[in-house]
Amino acid sequence: MYTSTLLRHGSSMARSLQFILVVLTLMHPPDRPVPGRRLQFDEPQSQDRSEAQSRDNMVRTQILARGIHDSAVVRAMRTVPRHRFVPEELKSDAYDDGPLPIGYGQTISQPYIVALMTELLQVKRTDRVLEIGTGSGYQAAVLGEICDSVWTIEIIDELASEARSRLNRLGYDGVSVRSADGYYGWPDHGPFDAIMVTAAAEHIPPPLVSQLANNGRMVIPVGHPFFVQNLVLVEKHNGAVTTRTILPVRFVPLTRSQ
Ligand code: SAH
Repeated sequence: MYTSTLLRHGSSMARSLQFILVVLTLMHPPDRPVPGRRLQFDEPQSQDRSEAQSRDNMVRTQILARGIHDSAVVRAMRTVPRHRFVPEELKSDAYDDGPLPIGYGQTISQPYIVALMTELLQVKRTDRVLEIGTGSGYQAAVLGEICDSVWTIEIIDELASEARSRLNRLGYDGVSVRSADGYYGWPDHGPFDAIMVTAAAEHIPPPLVSQLANNGRMVIPVGHPFFVQNLVLVEKHNGAVTTRTILPVRFVPLTRSQ
């Protein structure tokens, strides 16, 4: 009697659980390719599904848990396939809580720093955005998820051309990559509502300040390459420029063309 009650109870509980699961699945459909993004054919989709789980986990434990709540930034971090931006042999580390080498002595930044710098810029879809230090193209892709127009400059020719073809393959049509010294910005496309520098500068490059639009924001790590640098938020209002230190960081140096 007791057992059969338990069984009956158990099976109705199982049905309720099943119902809850169906509702939850409908509320959170599994990751699908984003419309407008071309599918990659060189990798089975099942692998991308498990990467999507790692990405969700990264967003929960590294991004949301540390106080990043801007919904556009969280959505972008949940969408951009970070494992496609790291060398093949490091794919299984792509969603770890740290930077990773991308060749030529350069690194892709830690996911939290990418999210924090993006949130600090407070970008909206119509903003014109400039990034200095394309590297793998990952940060540019995160910005490209939020904004229609992103320009990014990389000083190492090989990295610039690899990032350009990677971003094309993944369908980030709004991101333009240029191989040049980003210290001088990209005056033809300015002024910019937001500028992000992802290499450490010893001072804030004046050409970048002058290419910042009125009410524009810039985030830049400032400091000596071999010491701790500070992430600085620069804002321009009616010609007046203010700076605010956010937190200590460590970036590869902003190098200069000869
Ligand atoms: N944002 C990148 C990581 C940046 S690593 C990503 O998401 O992967 C910093 C990059 O800045 C490196 O690729 C380095 O070559 C580049 N860099 C350094 N000095 C530069 C300069 N003066 N102009 C443009 N790029 C520069």
